[in-house]
Amino acid sequence: MNKTVFPPPPVITIPIKDCDQRFAVRRVFCAGRNYAGHIKEMGGQAGTLPPVFFAKPADALVSDGKDVPYPRATKDLHHEVELVLALGKPLSDANEAEAMGAIYGLAVGVDLTRRDLQDQAKARAAPWTSAKAFDHSAPIGPLSPVSEVPASLRGRIYLCVNGKRRQDGDLAQMLWPPARLLAHLSSLFDLKVGDLVFTGTPAGVGPLQIGDVVTAGIEALDMAPLRFAVYGK
Ligand code: MN
Repeated sequence: MNKTVFPPPPVITIPIKDCDQRFAVRRVFCAGRNYAGHIKEMGGQAGTLPPVFFAKPADALVSDGKDVPYPRATKDLHHEVELVLALGKPLSDANEAEAMGAIYGLAVGVDLTRRDLQDQAKARAAPWTSAKAFDHSAPIGPLSPVSEVPASLRGRIYLCVNGKRRQDGDLAQMLWPPARLLAHLSSLFDLKVGDLVFTGTPAGVGPLQIGDVVTAGIEALDMAPLRFAVYGK
């Protein structure tokens, strides 16, 4: 390899449940507007349009039980619990069967959002990067490998703050279920091994404060839960 002027950045990896190997992450895609309940609480109306997509840098992931710092530049940090798909095969212009066959594993993740900055971005018809793609914005639980994801995936998806239930939905409420979502995403991008896809959040998003303890999980396919605290500087 040619020498680089500065040391190359580290490869980002996340743990795999009951496994001593880790999953190397390439990119983190996120879907927005994939549950009718959340679209409604954000003041919108569910239609036939596909979900919107945005991305977070891989080094925004927070794993291995680490806590999350309350980010700067916001007074309204929101939680969004989401099913995360991890790809073990490449996908380009895939059909739904191919998309399902490319899923290596599933995890529960939280799409942390600076809601005040997102509201400002929406008002200016500007990108969501500042609202979504900040450092430590993607806590994620251990990846649970799956041999096969059922076409009609269902199971409770929940998030609690200090033991109080804030979000409680079902994966079956996804407007674009994993197969359809991945197939569509693969029509926009050449998806590769190591890519993660956050699949959108059910209703009940809300603010987090310094000192809050978040627990989140998905009651399907033996998935591992996630827990983190929000700490101040
Ligand atoms: Mn989200």
